[in-house]
Amino acid sequence: MMKTLFLNPPSFDGFDGGAGARYQAKREVRSFWYPTWLAQPAALVPDSRLVDAPARGLSLDDVVAMADDFELAVLHTSTPSFRSDVKVVEALKSANPQLMIGLVGAHVAVSPEPSILASQAIDFVARNEFDFTIKEIAEGRPLAEVDGVTYKVDGRAVHNRERAVLHDMDRLPFVTPIYHRDLVPEDYFIGYLKHPYVSLYTGRGCKSRCTFCLWPQTIGGHTYRTRSPGHVIKEIALAKELFPQVKEFFFDDDTFTDDRPRAEEIARGLGHLGVTWSCNAKANVPYETLKVLRDNGLRLLLVGYESGNQQILHNIKKGMRIEVARKFTEDCHKLGIVIHGTFILGLPGETRETIEETIRFATEINPHTIQVSLAAPYPGTFLYDQAAENGWLVRQDGDLVHDDGFQISSLAYPNLSQQEIFDAVATFYKRFYFRPGKIADITMEMLRSWEMMKRRLREGVEFMHFLNAREMAP
Ligand code: SF4
Repeated sequence: MMKTLFLNPPSFDGFDGGAGARYQAKREVRSFWYPTWLAQPAALVPDSRLVDAPARGLSLDDVVAMADDFELAVLHTSTPSFRSDVKVVEALKSANPQLMIGLVGAHVAVSPEPSILASQAIDFVARNEFDFTIKEIAEGRPLAEVDGVTYKVDGRAVHNRERAVLHDMDRLPFVTPIYHRDLVPEDYFIGYLKHPYVSLYTGRGCKSRCTFCLWPQTIGGHTYRTRSPGHVIKEIALAKELFPQVKEFFFDDDTFTDDRPRAEEIARGLGHLGVTWSCNAKANVPYETLKVLRDNGLRLLLVGYESGNQQILHNIKKGMRIEVARKFTEDCHKLGIVIHGTFILGLPGETRETIEETIRFATEINPHTIQVSLAAPYPGTFLYDQAAENGWLVRQDGDLVHDDGFQISSLAYPNLSQQEIFDAVATFYKRFYFRPGKIADITMEMLRSWEMMKRRLREGVEFMHFLNAREMAP
């Protein structure tokens, strides 16, 4: 086996571009997801090492100093961080010219040729689902014989055949022993999760076809491929022992609730373990299922509402009806399940009126916390192609973030400018959070726990900085 480094490279300060972040950007409140997509192949390669530079606060010099210790380096990249990641590759290569270096992630899956040709220092890119691709390379198999790889011969890109999609997900070893070996759980903050938390996947892929959503259109696919409930419960039982300090487990599957009988079965197993857990959900889970989940330790659901306008939900193929989302949210409130709701401004069909409708919808259904993002046309998505065809892309360079890592407003429509969409994000946050009822909720939450008081005060300062920066930004 080659001595292998799995690296989440350093980029913008506080940039969550990791191998676990769906929408890579610097957030309004500093946050980091676990680099699960790198931990998974790391678990297949004995004696490897996983380094998460942004979460650990490591600089380029820090990671370059490691170059001599390894024979193979696998870096996770993304569209917003690609140029910066190539600089890291080049620095590693000049420190150790013998080091074989490969890139993984949705960006190289969508654009393998431009990616491999971006620098002499990149030896290969592993397209789509790359776990076993990396394992075979680490075993020393020649690149020409590894499915799913793009590499160079005489300066030209060569694309090997696609790797077969993995269906037996129980073949993937547990990631939590890798977290335990190489990561520090206290480094990972997500505003709406308890701290410290641990996140992992119990399956990949999403049967929905939302036009903006990157992973199911690239590495995950549109079938929800799952680990068996027993496999998941066993890992959580182990993780509970490995991380006695962890207060919450988060299942980051695209839509954990898509397979309801399985979700209920896993929940019952978690109930026996007595852990607190949370997951991603679509706003269509019936009351009976929600109750089973809640009765077995479910604390929070991360719900992508996206918009409060039905036509926009149709336009983005969300497969969701507003009245179903309302009923689901009421049910969660009744059951005491906390919701972090996510919304996107600037999706196709957006107007000043639909923005207003979405803000009103959010305040009416009243999730505990929200996240408001700008529509991000990632290459490889239906939204990107649609925006390119219709002339909605305002950035010819395709950049999705500013030099400081914050999201750029990348789309504009004949009746709605890029600036109006950008400004509406801060308006949305202010109208949602600066309401007497919401301020009272958050104050109560702080008064109940000193931990929460410290945390919310820190986040509050970061959030106000974010709003001020927005007001000054173009
Ligand atoms: S339901 Fe969620 S994860 Fe699935 S395609 Fe839509 S946005 Fe993506």
